[in-house]
Amino acid sequence: MKVFKFGGASVKDAEGIKNVIKVLKEVGYNETLIVVSAFGKTTNALEQIVREYMEDSSNMQNSILKLLKFHLDIINKLYDSDYTFIALEIQKIFEELKHFFQTNKSPDYNFIYDQVVSLGEIISTTILSNYLNYSGINNIWLDARKLIKTDNYYRDANLNWELSKEKILINIDIKNVYITQGFIGSDNNNFSTTLGREGSDYSAAIFAYVLNAEFVTIWKDVDGVLNADPRYFKKTILLNRISYQEAIELAFYGASVIHPKTLQPLQRKEIPLNVRSFLNPSKKGTIVSKGAKMKPIVPCFIIKKNQVLLRLSSLDFSFIVEENISDIFLLLHKFKMRVELIQNSAISFSVCVSNKYDNLDELEYNLRSKYNVNVYEGVTLRTIRHFNSTSLKSINKNNSNILLEQRDQNTIQLVLDE
Ligand code: ADP
Ligand code: ASP
Ligand code: MG
Repeated sequence: MKVFKFGGASVKDAEGIKNVIKVLKEVGYNETLIVVSAFGKTTNALEQIVREYMEDSSNMQNSILKLLKFHLDIINKLYDSDYTFIALEIQKIFEELKHFFQTNKSPDYNFIYDQVVSLGEIISTTILSNYLNYSGINNIWLDARKLIKTDNYYRDANLNWELSKEKILINIDIKNVYITQGFIGSDNNNFSTTLGREGSDYSAAIFAYVLNAEFVTIWKDVDGVLNADPRYFKKTILLNRISYQEAIELAFYGASVIHPKTLQPLQRKEIPLNVRSFLNPSKKGTIVSKGAKMKPIVPCFIIKKNQVLLRLSSLDFSFIVEENISDIFLLLHKFKMRVELIQNSAISFSVCVSNKYDNLDELEYNLRSKYNVNVYEGVTLRTIRHFNSTSLKSINKNNSNILLEQRDQNTIQLVLDE
């Protein structure tokens, strides 16, 4: 069996959905599990609806209607003949959403978020599965919430591997073609959970691991893994081959083409990962596999914007020692800050974090009782792997405002105020 994953960019409109059919017909779809994300920017739209529900619901009905219309328009463009049946199915999911808002008693933002945002993938896969059947690609729709079992750490749920394995193996017969959702699962009480933004790649890897897939292909709007993000760099080079380790490092440092959690399950079973272009399915893209020698070996540039640099120093010029550091990390963990980079000297400690959960004020408040704190918001973390003198010059030329620098033999990281 093989696993394909189509992300939001590949299914952002009716054209994109038709292109999925083209890709499947071109590369073959026997014995395939197809993992799909929400259409286009649907997840962002659902996040906005959750915010409106929590903070000021005056515009919420409008936002819901707009999102319904977005999906109905896509359905309208897909079908030549009567499509009432599928439109009704989608309307029903929106009714469930409204019903949830009317009856919900929980004040827990993260819980509400998962119950609402998970519907993006339920809607997209319902439409895609029907359309594939209509186009002659017979498939079975699977509810990933019944297969991907997690804890109840809403918005960033952790997988229960044993239980998920049991459910997946009972429900999937490798001879068929299946469509299911990325990103979503459910907890012990069967409430929906999500695996973290952009988590569909990870879902594909989970299914592949359990099903001992031959390979996983994630279909992207780029030719594969490039040596730099094409949104920020004009000239990029395709990496034809990289090892799991290289891919893990690139993803960890922020090459957002692969979700960082994707690689570990694949690497454990040595399942190759292909990153290919849904616009050019005849091209091979990037193959990530065991011990693969990177080809070509070139500097790789990774940019993470909107980071926060915290500079802490002791109030009384005493040393920052193990006890302080452990204390600081407890707070970072408590406020769900993702630590990107740390550096310490005798009396100061610097840490660059992603403030994904918007907890900076509370963290700062807690830190200020014990330390002098300088906060630099909106800074950029630039990483160059396999750096050479030319790539170093490119950074120094462009940026005078380096707040922090760290390097080892292979990798240099800079926090820049830019
Ligand atoms: P999906 O549709 O699966 O959600 P994403 O948008 O998450 O796809 O990932 C593809 C995007 O990742 C590309 O459009 C590109 O802007 C970005 N990207 C960041 N770093 C890289 C890189 N090193 N190589 C290729 N693409 C990259
Ligand atoms: N739809 C989710 C998101 O946009 C998951 C994914 O696309 O991977 O984050
Ligand atoms: Mg995405």
